[in-house]
Amino acid sequence: MDIDDLSNRILAGERRALARAITLVESGRADHRTQATALLEKLRGHGREALRIGLSGTPGVGKSTFIEAFGCMLTGLGLKVAVLAVDPSSARSGGSILGDKTRMERLSRDRNAFIRPSPSQSQLGGVARRTREGIDLCEAAGFDVILIETVGVGQSETMVAEMSDLFLLLLAPAGGDELQGVKRGIMEMADILLINKADGDLKPTAIRTCADYAGALRLLRKRPQDPQEFPKALTVSAVEENGLEQAWQEMQTLTDWRKDNGHFAGRRAQQARYWFESEVRETLLARLSREPVKGAMTQLGAQVESGVQTPSAAAEALLGQYLQISTVERA
Ligand code: GDP
Repeated sequence: MDIDDLSNRILAGERRALARAITLVESGRADHRTQATALLEKLRGHGREALRIGLSGTPGVGKSTFIEAFGCMLTGLGLKVAVLAVDPSSARSGGSILGDKTRMERLSRDRNAFIRPSPSQSQLGGVARRTREGIDLCEAAGFDVILIETVGVGQSETMVAEMSDLFLLLLAPAGGDELQGVKRGIMEMADILLINKADGDLKPTAIRTCADYAGALRLLRKRPQDPQEFPKALTVSAVEENGLEQAWQEMQTLTDWRKDNGHFAGRRAQQARYWFESEVRETLLARLSREPVKGAMTQLGAQVESGVQTPSAAAEALLGQYLQISTVERA
């Protein structure tokens, strides 16, 4: 594969080149990984900056309907929109909640939109790297807004929040009890809560739910880096396309504020460090689970179980062996 050519075509905004590059970064093959690294290195410092928006919500809350409506509104404003999905269910079962090809038909036909379903069958750690690289590729291809969608389960929300400039949580109208169901940690990550389905019979409930969440948000820790009124809760209707413009306005207000105050770049810098540390951990863990260290791990584990060694002494011993092995490998 001609990496120079691919890189030039991505910078020229060619969608097929972008799709190919994403397939390349998603591949598990060692030669593909080498090419992907070379490509990303080549594209580094292209100077383009998209707004990365993470979006989470439980299945059925209206994520695809929202993204379709919101995405079309943005392309209507002349913006180029990319949609990436992170679906932890596909990593576990090989089946996908988000990968359904019939989703977002209108947006997928839009010349200024690019939709990429979740890579399937890989570990969450691997998904994180691929999604981050996918974001970099979309940014290089000149997209203005990158929406990163995830299902509200497990660790995937933290992961998406750590690669987004803004994090949105989509919620359904609900009784007061259900409000408790949203984990505090997830609320704390959100910049804007969107109570969807504020239409028809559900509208009064949506308005009440929104007020409840607004109250709950006021009880959360203050964020000195953001304007006082954030994080905030808004009602929207993805189906009737109501409230989308206001939501976009709020996103821009928060983004502009953060840019003016250095927090936008600051957040990206912090995220870069977070991912560096996460990569170190993941890589080390992966190496520790390979032979011959893996065998030593099993053996030492058994010794710890039978009380021959303490957990900390065994851990020291294992890391000692690992360091010895890697020194020998390098020599
Ligand atoms: P996802 O699983 O989060 O992607 O949810 P979908 O976008 O597939 O929507 C789930 C269901 O909720 C579908 O039947 C949608 O038509 C419906 N839905 C989505 N948005 C709205 C909305 O704004 N109002 C109403 N009334 N229904 C909606």
